[in-house]
Amino acid sequence: MQTHRLAHLLSGTPPLSFPAQTSETAETADAAGGAVRHAAWSGQVRAVVERLARVPAPAPLTSVSLGTSVSDGLHREQLELDSPVRGRFRATLLRPADAAPGPAVLVLGGKNARLEQLTGQTPPDHADRNVAEHLARAGFTTLAFAYGLHGGFDPEALDGRDEGALLAHAFALRGHSLLGALAGDALGALDVLRAHPLVDADRVGLFGHSLGGAVALHTALLARRTVPLCVASHLGTYAALFTRLLTGFEGAALPGILEYADLPDLFGALAPAPLQLQYGTADRFLDADDARTAAGTVERAYAASGAEQRLEVLELPMGHGTEVSRAAAFFTRVLTAPAAPPEAAPDTVPDTLPVTAPVPAQRVSFDAEARRTVCERVDAALVSGVLTQGPQVARFEELSRAWTGTPGAAVNSGTGALEIALRILDVAGRTVLVPVNTFFATAAAAERAGARARFVDLELDGLGMAPDGLRAALDRYPDTAAVVPVHIGGIVSPALHEVLALCRDRGIPVLEDAAHAFGSTLDGHPAGSLGQFGAFSFFPTKVATSAEGGLLTCADPDDLERVRLWRDHGRSAPGSTLHDRPGGNWRMSEVHAAVGTVDLERFGAILTARRALAARYDELLAGVPGQRPHVVPAGSESNFYKYLLYLDDGVDRASLKRRLRERHGVALAGEVYDHLLCDQPFFAASRAAGDGTEHDFPRARWFARHHIALPLYPSLTEGEQLRVAAALRSELR
Ligand SMILES: *Cc1c(COP(=O)(O)O)cnc(C)c1O
Repeated sequence: MQTHRLAHLLSGTPPLSFPAQTSETAETADAAGGAVRHAAWSGQVRAVVERLARVPAPAPLTSVSLGTSVSDGLHREQLELDSPVRGRFRATLLRPADAAPGPAVLVLGGKNARLEQLTGQTPPDHADRNVAEHLARAGFTTLAFAYGLHGGFDPEALDGRDEGALLAHAFALRGHSLLGALAGDALGALDVLRAHPLVDADRVGLFGHSLGGAVALHTALLARRTVPLCVASHLGTYAALFTRLLTGFEGAALPGILEYADLPDLFGALAPAPLQLQYGTADRFLDADDARTAAGTVERAYAASGAEQRLEVLELPMGHGTEVSRAAAFFTRVLTAPAAPPEAAPDTVPDTLPVTAPVPAQRVSFDAEARRTVCERVDAALVSGVLTQGPQVARFEELSRAWTGTPGAAVNSGTGALEIALRILDVAGRTVLVPVNTFFATAAAAERAGARARFVDLELDGLGMAPDGLRAALDRYPDTAAVVPVHIGGIVSPALHEVLALCRDRGIPVLEDAAHAFGSTLDGHPAGSLGQFGAFSFFPTKVATSAEGGLLTCADPDDLERVRLWRDHGRSAPGSTLHDRPGGNWRMSEVHAAVGTVDLERFGAILTARRALAARYDELLAGVPGQRPHVVPAGSESNFYKYLLYLDDGVDRASLKRRLRERHGVALAGEVYDHLLCDQPFFAASRAAGDGTEHDFPRARWFARHHIALPLYPSLTEGEQLRVAAALRSELR
């Protein structure tokens, strides 16, 4: 009866199960399409694992050496590691005594394996238990650590109870899982191994047996880079392990995982990482048929990703063990030959690096902790019933103030912010001056507010509105009601001082379009605090996001009150049912604010990361021919919304972008901008109608033709930056 109920509980196909979603399409589609779909699916599986594993991010382990010894041709180093979740635990680093820098393997044993057995210090209770010793003798540096599943309790008091199960329950009480905690420690141990002077950081693999196989699998899924993996005696479906065989250990599965994916799906999501799976036909913890079925799923997933040759499934005539020689052969193959890519110093960019995953133009990235916080805030909004203009929006406004220096009102978009400011300035029927080089929304907002948008050239130092061009335009359009400089690429141009002075002299208000410039400053003044108004966008591609959203900062507190009325249907007063202006619905919802507050809470780190990435591009690009980076002028601190560089005359930008994408998998970010506003069909039409709109903007035209923007976002890795630089070097020489 009991088994029946369990079978019912564990039956059904999880939604991320591999064949359910992708097998049929993968067979009919071309190979490249299959790889892209596999990558998307794998990303979903990894995100679920990341969320359920609850590994504290990032989890640096401190490591203390307790002494070293050499015996029997092996060098042993005893370590004590300190983990955020599990506290202190012991580890042993083992290597051939005469080792030169080379490959390494993190060894994760089974539930009953003791550290001393893994490393061969005490005789193993199974012939193949001392995997770490075997691999060290095969030439690998190995690291193994204690799980702490044994030895904590008085055996009398335990009275037959399972220590592992008790520990798993204790973790569950804190919302953790034993598996998540062990995988977190294994991630930290991988870093300890990579940092070792005798380990080549690019050649580190993972081995796991039984419970260790589950830990190794989850560690590989959580790892930021590809790790070759060998797993022995941990294969099957969760339903079979927990109902038919009754050998499933709660510490070897993530609570909640079967709502999304089964064990074979987790292995399949590892593709294209090299993977060896071993299982024994005489293993009393597994069922050979079930393991075979599971292996089939893994094989289909690997085939869909185009990496079937990187998967090796070994059905062996063994019990619950490991065929150590096959494991050693696997690691020799994937970690020693062919040579891993050379570690390049910043000043020696290799011409080409092997193309792995593409470097995308943009990557929105919320880690598991951030996503959980968003969900909790959305949940709180749904529980309270306050779904718009509530406490989350208030907090969004409060948090943003730290970066704008001026109070602001949250709205539903950057365009909404621009339009509200222009309506408050009552520009209808008059001229609004905008840079000819900006996003369409800057000018469209003016047109929708009833004004005529007219254009000004840019200056090439800070990419701001050109003061000489502005002076000429103000003379030409004496009915100018507002001037809207734009901080292109995140740079608040020093020329803005002159723009402000010109406008002040004539009593014309300035609205900063700071959509690119959240967090940027000029002479210490934040973007959005220099004009009468500052409009920000929180669209996903901008430096901070609320999915959709905007913010309008106001120098004058009375204006701030006006914004709050305009955004809420133009009420005469807050809460009033009387409306005295043609307002609209420009409100930000609590759901959007939930996303936005999470992004703003980490915005300091985002800004630091963007600036560090830009500085690294500066180094990597020095000496790359055919280009020169845009230099941000002194006094201006950019948020590096865009990292801009100029191509030499004669470089065909469209062809360069295509070659970077097709040959190197590098996608460039969008230009800012490739068309001038005067050439946009909407404005070109009115020019053709002969209304005298100027269209001779030599500097903006030069800029629009010559610049490119490199991918830059906080999750961009050093390796990806190297690939971008190497791709440019190889295509521009
Ligand atoms: C993104 C952007 C806008 C519009 O912002 P939304 O939030 O998409 O409405 C306005 N101006 C510039 C310069 C932009 O880049």
